[in-house]
Amino acid sequence: MHGVVVIGAGHAGVEAAASLRAGGYSGPVTVVGAERHLPYQRPPLSKEMLADGGDPGALALRSEAFFADRGIVLRHGPAVDVDRARQQVHIAGDRPLDYDHLVLATGAAPRRIELPGRSLRGVAELRTLDDALALRASLVGAGRMVVLGGGFIGMEVASAARKRGVDVSVVELADRLLGRAVSPPVSAAVAAHHRADGVGLCFGEHATELVGDAGHVTGVRTGSGRVLPADLVVLGIGATAEDGLARRAGLATDGGVLVDRWLTTSDPRIIAIGDCAVVCDPATGTRRRLESIQNATDHGRYAAARILGEERPYCALPWFWSNQGALRLQLVGIAGDSAELVVRGDAARFSVFCMRDGRLTAVESVNDPGTHMAARRLLERATPGEAELVAVDYDVRALARRVLARETAVA
Ligand SMILES: Cc1cc2nc3c(=O)[nH]c(=O)nc-3n(C[C@H](O)[C@H](O)[C@H](O)COP(=O)(O)OP(=O)(O)OC[C@H]3O[C@@H](n4cnc5c(N)ncnc54)[C@H](O)[C@@H]3O)c2cc1C
Repeated sequence: MHGVVVIGAGHAGVEAAASLRAGGYSGPVTVVGAERHLPYQRPPLSKEMLADGGDPGALALRSEAFFADRGIVLRHGPAVDVDRARQQVHIAGDRPLDYDHLVLATGAAPRRIELPGRSLRGVAELRTLDDALALRASLVGAGRMVVLGGGFIGMEVASAARKRGVDVSVVELADRLLGRAVSPPVSAAVAAHHRADGVGLCFGEHATELVGDAGHVTGVRTGSGRVLPADLVVLGIGATAEDGLARRAGLATDGGVLVDRWLTTSDPRIIAIGDCAVVCDPATGTRRRLESIQNATDHGRYAAARILGEERPYCALPWFWSNQGALRLQLVGIAGDSAELVVRGDAARFSVFCMRDGRLTAVESVNDPGTHMAARRLLERATPGEAELVAVDYDVRALARRVLARETAVA
């Protein structure tokens, strides 16, 4: 028995390895990582780590003893090739590893852009702990920072920099923040929050050049010709799946590693999970790649269950959170483009109920964690129709209680 090899020691890969042991898998389990640190949590990198500092060691997902006690071997990679015919993983500077099952959990990487001045000092991106440590050091002496891209990571970094007293401007091509992820009312609330915090928001603009002096960035030239002064520029323009290894191995890829509803790639011995996986559902024609902790950990758990014999397809309710200073944003479900929106609450705390074909498909909450948690309990079990929601004036707590009571009565 060669056991399971997991490539990628992030949230998804570590969860898969831990869940294999929790589920009783007794064969060898090896996790191949590319980073020099013990596997760590990524979300704090754009939040507490930048805003408050703190010990990077505290971010470890699991202790060294956790892996040792369970016989999970951590190998420092990177994995450079997968020989599918021999069922072997080649690791840089190390002997190859044989596998019975291979789990690809290679994550994502910051989207690359060709921009004059990209290699100037003071231009940063954020994906890894090393990126965060470098950015944190740069923030200490920074006076003005420009963030390119008004997405989650860009806006979290903007909040952290404001907390450190840095002047911040955000350049966003669209006419609103987080435009691909949330509805217009939530975008508007996020923009109001950042404006009140002193962040300058430049909508409908894009960077054409990073200008510099003596090798260091001094500003961002935008499409309208103006130059925003900056001694620090953060590229927050999204991420792309790390699927190079899968492509070289001849697996089907398209903006990520293509997997079916069992998270299995075009090779039945290889599963792909987390940020690198594009889940295809031929029944609905959907293809979905998500970047979230929920998705990575649920995929990791499912991968282990599948290897241990699970026959049902993967099924989990997507949810996500983002903390931007005092703003707490929580999303559950998939709204889709054509959602009709119902807003409940006030400017300081509200939720947006996204309806499609008369049914609730997603809830977006701003500083409204109670509604978010109730919506999760509810949407895990049912997709209530408009009449049901109107009857309780969109009080999903009441509806969730009712559905749970019904469940208990049946049990
Ligand atoms: C700064 C930041 C903040 C975030 N905040 C939130 C948040 O608030 N809420 C939320 O839900 N999500 C958040 N996310 C997203 C979340 O962190 C990711 O969705 C999650 O980490 C994905 O897990 P993963 O295991 O698929 O990938 P990753 O965590 O990226 O792990 C993949 C690992 O694979 C390694 N790897 C890649 N190629 C190889 C190779 N060839 N050999 C060996 N190893 C390899 C990489 O080095 C990496 O360590 C954030 C992401 C970032 C970057």
